[in-house]
Amino acid sequence: MKWQGRRQSSNVEDRRGQGGSGMGGGGINPFLLGPLVKLLFSKTGMVIAGVFIVGSMIMGYNPLNLLGGLLGGGGGQGLTSESTYSPTAEEEELAAFSATILGDTETVWNELMDNYREPTLVLFTGSVSSACGSASSATGPFYCPADEKLYIDLSFFEEMETKLRAGGDFAYAYVIAHEVGHHIQKIMGITDQVHSLRGKVSEKEYNLNSVRLELQADFLAGVWAHHSQRSSGMMEAGDLEEALGAANAIGDDRLQKQATGRVVPDSFTHGTSAQRMKWFKKGFETGDLSQGDTFSTRDL
Ligand SMILES: [Zn+2]
Repeated sequence: MKWQGRRQSSNVEDRRGQGGSGMGGGGINPFLLGPLVKLLFSKTGMVIAGVFIVGSMIMGYNPLNLLGGLLGGGGGQGLTSESTYSPTAEEEELAAFSATILGDTETVWNELMDNYREPTLVLFTGSVSSACGSASSATGPFYCPADEKLYIDLSFFEEMETKLRAGGDFAYAYVIAHEVGHHIQKIMGITDQVHSLRGKVSEKEYNLNSVRLELQADFLAGVWAHHSQRSSGMMEAGDLEEALGAANAIGDDRLQKQATGRVVPDSFTHGTSAQRMKWFKKGFETGDLSQGDTFSTRDL
């Protein structure tokens, strides 16, 4: 990827070295979802999502407990303050990279949407407080709809490379774009529609809708990549494969097998490797938002 020297977003809150208030307890699983949420319209809502489950699996935690923990209350922290944290050169490079990718998503989504609200990227280390509760790095990157912020511990990218063998700058860009995809879903009201079904559907149905929401975020990441490539031309040969490799590596089936040795489709919340690759690719190839209704399609 040719990302160096491009505009970096100013919507970055650097909380590295500050820590959060630790893991919250209890709470409600935010992934309670329902059927047939249409792409593109409605109100506001709530979903904690992300590559999320991935981080949990890597670190050996039960992601559902973490999801619950995330909703355990707690408010957002204030703005960035000075800290004694001194990042390595590699970390600084990843921070600059992340700010650049976020900046590029701003360019693309400002063009594709009227009145786009740019989200904030919070960099943290260890643990962090969000309006959705507290989380540790083990949860992986996530988006909190309540404060419209993306939370990333940059060490996650290292984990992708070492533990999932899905490294590479465009693989990391896909992760950021996926979280921004959840922000788009929040703005479009899709998250809220899904959230409103909480408690009204079976766990199985909830999981299926969670999968649909996640696959749509993958699709939206692909839409970003499509338009980014047209406007900035950052992608190089092999980049698409990097993103697909990441989508493949963080499919629920593969992660579950890695973690438990077996695959139980009903418990998926993010989609299989094949599904994730398919929807990212569809977004990338079409660049067309109207192609991304993962909720009405029978064939995920
Ligand atoms: Zn997600």
